[in-house]
Amino acid sequence: MLNELFDLKGETAVVTGAGRGIGEGIAKVLAAAGASVVCAARRVDEIQRVADEINAAGGKAKCCATDVTDLDAVNRLAKFACDETGGLHMWVNNAGGSAVQKPLHLLDQEEWDRTLALNLTAVWQCTRVAAETMVEGRILNISSLAAEDVIAGSGHYSAAKAGVNMLTKTFAQELGPRIRVNCIMPGAVPTEIMMQALKLKDEDLPKLDKMLRLPAGRLGTPQDLGAAALFLLSPASAWVTGQNIRVSGGP
Ligand code: NAD
Repeated sequence: MLNELFDLKGETAVVTGAGRGIGEGIAKVLAAAGASVVCAARRVDEIQRVADEINAAGGKAKCCATDVTDLDAVNRLAKFACDETGGLHMWVNNAGGSAVQKPLHLLDQEEWDRTLALNLTAVWQCTRVAAETMVEGRILNISSLAAEDVIAGSGHYSAAKAGVNMLTKTFAQELGPRIRVNCIMPGAVPTEIMMQALKLKDEDLPKLDKMLRLPAGRLGTPQDLGAAALFLLSPASAWVTGQNIRVSGGP
């Protein structure tokens, strides 16, 4: 029974931003659960590496260069997933982030527009395309603790991610029962964008770890997020939809 609850064999998952960081972690866990994974991001070398590693480990992965802010490219991605694997069952809206930290009153319009386009509008567009393409399935959004918690300097990012939380609830209501839609709000996971945004170097991480004093005892890893994604995309969560879940090593 346990196997069936977490079995994704015979199903296809698109993971955006799968070239590194959390998206890579999610793609690898879904592949380990038997899914065919389509890794999508702008950098072909990065998604090719992730797909190669999944295939070398006995999983199934393909890659499709995609900028999620380009609707034509997103439509091509959905078609690619169906043509190459015979269907589409899961879609993970993971691509996102902002490396800029600035008080809202000093933020320029360009960064506001860029952040909203990548972190919010692209999630809306990708979900529309995924919902049109799937017969039935599951969609998972990746927002952030910043959707609920104030982080000075990240107001633009917070506003976009709070929007993602509400897209999750509304799409779940509108697309159910055909499609379940959930969202993970990750806490601190040292990835390229997180290190850039907080201006951290590897040697700063033990200090950050100590400062946060997370009840789970450590910072997050891409695999931690992959495990939570597996739950929300597998039959184990069949009765969970419209939820924004904090996966953050603490409350
Ligand atoms: P990352 O920078 O390590 O990886 C981001 C991935 O997205 C890369 O593969 C990149 O190529 C891709 N990407 C960026 N812009 C894209 C675009 N326009 N089209 C397609 N792909 C694009 O970042 P990460 O930390 O792994 O972040 C993944 C998600 O998790 C983001 O939505 C981020 O906001 C969220 N998040 C991260 C943290 C954290 O601590 N790392 C915390 C909360 C939320």
